[in-house]
Amino acid sequence: MKKVRKVFTSINFKIAMIFMLLLLATIEIVGAYFTRQLEQTSIQSFETSIQIPNTISNQISAQLSRSNIHKANQQLNRIISNYNNNDAISSISIIDSKGVIRAVSNLNDQNRVGQRATNADVKEVLSSGKQVSKVINDDGNYMMQITPLTASNGTNTTIGAISVRASMQGVFNTIRNVSLVFLTASLVAAFLGAIVALIISRAITRPIEEMRKQALRVSDGDYSGHVKVYADDELGQLARAFNTLSVRIERTQEVSDSERRRLDNVLTHMTDGVIATDRHGNITIINETALDFLGKTEKEVIGEPITKLLGLKDVTIQDLMSSQQELMVTVNENTRDEMILHANFSLIQRVTGFVSGLVCVLHDITEQQKNEREQQQFVSNVSHELRTPLTSLRAYVEALNDGAWKDPNVAPQFLGVIQDETQRMIRMINDLLSLSRMDRGVAKMDLEWVNFNDFVSHVLNRFDMMIKTDEKNKKQSKKYSIKREFSGQDLWVEIDTDKMMQVIDNIMNNAIKYSPDGGVITVRLLQANKHIILSISDQGLGIPRKDLTKIFDRFYRVDKARSRKQGGTGLGLAISKEIVEAHHGRIWADSAEGEGSTFYISIPYEPMTEEGDSWDEV
Ligand code: ADP
Repeated sequence: MKKVRKVFTSINFKIAMIFMLLLLATIEIVGAYFTRQLEQTSIQSFETSIQIPNTISNQISAQLSRSNIHKANQQLNRIISNYNNNDAISSISIIDSKGVIRAVSNLNDQNRVGQRATNADVKEVLSSGKQVSKVINDDGNYMMQITPLTASNGTNTTIGAISVRASMQGVFNTIRNVSLVFLTASLVAAFLGAIVALIISRAITRPIEEMRKQALRVSDGDYSGHVKVYADDELGQLARAFNTLSVRIERTQEVSDSERRRLDNVLTHMTDGVIATDRHGNITIINETALDFLGKTEKEVIGEPITKLLGLKDVTIQDLMSSQQELMVTVNENTRDEMILHANFSLIQRVTGFVSGLVCVLHDITEQQKNEREQQQFVSNVSHELRTPLTSLRAYVEALNDGAWKDPNVAPQFLGVIQDETQRMIRMINDLLSLSRMDRGVAKMDLEWVNFNDFVSHVLNRFDMMIKTDEKNKKQSKKYSIKREFSGQDLWVEIDTDKMMQVIDNIMNNAIKYSPDGGVITVRLLQANKHIILSISDQGLGIPRKDLTKIFDRFYRVDKARSRKQGGTGLGLAISKEIVEAHHGRIWADSAEGEGSTFYISIPYEPMTEEGDSWDEV
């Protein structure tokens, strides 16, 4: 059905149709004119052919002038009976000036002789003296020709009339036959014309059809085809222009494709998230980074409003379009995966100024924000940590100033506290300085190869010495013992001995500080999985589970008052962590509250091969 309609609406069909209709209209007009002329000429010549010749009409006139009517009638009868010039004439009647029928050629009508002619035309001819010829169509097609007869004496008076009735069947048959031939010829001409019209219109529409097909291929992205140029006429020029156009489109498409690929690449590999929307704020493009930030898949977000995706409650898409704000977006708020994003909005505008959408660039500022927060926290912690000893110093100095210096019972105690606090502040400031050096990356690592076994033994020996010295001097200090569980093998590692000693000192001091008297401190050293693991366990207070990771933060103390009383700064483990990490190692703690704590240090270790050893010996 569709195909049939397509044929009828095609230019090909329309041109053929117009051509054929024009041809038919021309044939019709020519045909109508031709048959009309043919009819008129045929009737005229028929009229002439049935005209009674003058010789005969003179004879008749002479007979009508005779006084002996009977004899004249006989003569008239004879004249018209003998007259057989034309086969078409079926009857001849002679009427005198009084309108009486004087003779009839038709034998069946002889009874009309002597009667008055009733025909009005006869009366008309007799009175006017003019011939009347009429084609009568009833009772068979025939012609009635009534010719006036004038006196032979030259007076021109009408003395009668001859009425001739002649059949026109032959004439009309001829006209019909000629018309039939004409009609047949017209139909053949129309048919041939239609074929010619189809051929011509096909020649016009074929290049157009080819161009249509090529245009469809081009619109589908297939530029391989070419329109054939048939001639250098207008259609040929159009085909050539079309070919140039498709080459241009192909090139432009290539350029825009490679641009798009480049843009896609840039978008994919960008460390910032990028989201593009249409002008209603619904997402049209989103890159991998943005999806990672927001923890979504492309399928989930395409077509969704950007305000919903970013959880912007008080901002509408109109607000974003009108002011292109910069916003902070928090993802997974109050969870471990909390992420702070900086969202920068800008408009996508056409040259005309028409806004077709928005682009949002998301930048991960979680770390930056965390650092800022930590820095603020750090400054506030430092201020607080320094203010407390300074306040107590001021109190003691004021008391001494107010006269306590004179009191030998309190003055030395006050001065002792002042000395302790000052020392603690100096320690804290030294700790802060070494932390700051490590933060800035200026703390140089003084690496040397040592046998870790010997190194740890050397550090622990110092603690054993301290216990002995305290006992010798009868100094009141904490009682404790150190238990060593070392794997016998030599463990050669490259470390900064001073810094690593600081770490072990710190953990040992904590084990002593946070343990009651008589505790055993167990130090284990073993090698596992290309790592040396040093663990120091005490039988002290233990650390609550929730604080186990936090104790490595700067100034974090489980029990602030106790730590301060013990002269702690809250920075020891933070410094230890920095040092161990600078050795590419790890430090962590494990504890059972009230039973004791174990601190672990693991540092990378590459076992020496046999070859390496023998090479060393050389
Ligand atoms: P401090 O100068 O306060 O000792 P650290 O950074 O060395 O600072 O330790 C941080 C906190 O960790 C201490 O205040 C203490 O609460 C806890 N801590 C460290 N070691 C131990 C331990 N062996 N037993 C119990 N608590 C400990």
